[in-house]
Amino acid sequence: MPRRLELYEGVLTRRIVRQLESVHRPQEYVLSVYWDVDPRRWGDIEGTRIALKNAAGQLREQVHRLPGLSNGERQRLLDEIELMHEVAHLSAGRRGMRGLACFIASAENMAYAFPLPWPLRQQHFLEQRFVLWPLRQALEQSDPFGIVLVDKDEAKLFLGYLGEVEEVTYIFDEVPPKIRIPDAFGELQFRRKHVEHFHQHFEWVAFHVLRLWELEPFRYLIVGGLWEILPQFESHLHRYLKDLIVARWQVNVHIPRTELRSRLQQEEQKLLEHQAQQLWQQLNNAPSSQQAFGPEQVFRGLWQRRVWHLLVKPNTHYHGHVCPQCGRLHLSGGPCIECGAAVQTVSDIYEEAVREAVAQSAQVRYWDHPALDERDGLAALLRY
Ligand SMILES: [Zn+2]
Repeated sequence: MPRRLELYEGVLTRRIVRQLESVHRPQEYVLSVYWDVDPRRWGDIEGTRIALKNAAGQLREQVHRLPGLSNGERQRLLDEIELMHEVAHLSAGRRGMRGLACFIASAENMAYAFPLPWPLRQQHFLEQRFVLWPLRQALEQSDPFGIVLVDKDEAKLFLGYLGEVEEVTYIFDEVPPKIRIPDAFGELQFRRKHVEHFHQHFEWVAFHVLRLWELEPFRYLIVGGLWEILPQFESHLHRYLKDLIVARWQVNVHIPRTELRSRLQQEEQKLLEHQAQQLWQQLNNAPSSQQAFGPEQVFRGLWQRRVWHLLVKPNTHYHGHVCPQCGRLHLSGGPCIECGAAVQTVSDIYEEAVREAVAQSAQVRYWDHPALDERDGLAALLRY
C-alpha cells in the first residue's frame, strides 16, 4: 500500500495510460476517482474542499456497503480513499487545475494523481480495472508536442503536454538491440567531426524522433538548435514528421528546463488561439444547421448531444440553471423547456456548458474576441 499520493508533475504520457490499462485484479476492486476541483464551480478553495469532503464521504459509505469484502479489503479501500482525499484537499486551488484524476492499485504498488486543466464530473469507480474513459475525454482536449533540440554532436528529445515538459530517455528501452544504446541521451557524444558523421548523427536523431512519435504520438513537433544546422537536420526527418513542425527555436541543447517550459507554454497558447480562430472560420462557413450561436442555441445543441466544437469567451460568469432530470442547461429559471421539471441554479452556466461539452467528447476552445462577444461569448459547431 502506497504511503503517500503526490500530484504527478511530469508529462502524462501514453506509456502511463497503457500502464493503467494493463491493471487487472480479478476478484478485487481498484479505485478510480475523478475529483471536480474547479474553483469556478465551488466558488473558492474552501468551497472546493467542502465539496471534496462530501464526495469522499459518499465514496466511503459506498465501500462500507459493498457486499462480500473481507475486513482487510475494506480497510485497504478506505485507506486509499484517504490518500486520494488528502491529495485533493491539499492541492485544491492549484493554479490551472480544474480536475484531478486519481488511481490506486495497492497490490501493484501503483498510485497516480493527475492534475488536469479541464473540468471533470465528480465520479468514482470500483471495478476490477481502472476506468479511464473520463481521463481520455479530458486528455483529448489538448494536443501533445514533441520537442527535439539538436546540434552537431548532441540531441535531446522531450515530450510537452499540458504545459509540462519531460526529457524522454525511456525510448531507448524499446529500441531494437542492434542499435548502439548510449548511457543517456543528453550525454551522447560523437567525437569525430567529419561531415558524414553529422549526417549519421542527424539521421540517428531523426530515427529516434520517429520512434518517439510511434510510442507517444505527438500532434505537433518543435525543432530547436542553431539556425545554420536546423535545415540540415530537418532534411533527415521523416516526411510525415516534417509536416508536424509548428515552430523552430534558436536555442542551446542545454537550455534550462524552466525556460523550455515557458517556451512550450507560449507555443501551446499560440496554437490554441490559432485553433480557435480556425474554428470560428469553420463555424461561419458551415451549413446553418450545424451552427449554434449564443447560449440558447448552444444549450439546445448540448442537450441534443450534437456539439462537436465549442467556443467560449474566457472568464465569462453567468448564473444559470440546469435541469436535474434531463440535464438541459438554461439561462433563465422556470420549468425545463424540454421536460418540464423544476430546474436547479448553478453559479456559472458557461462553465457548466464546458463541463458538459468535455463529457460529450466535444473539443472546447477558449477565445477572447469581439466576434464571439457579439454572440454572448458562446458558439458551437454541431456534428450534423
Ligand atoms: Zn429537463
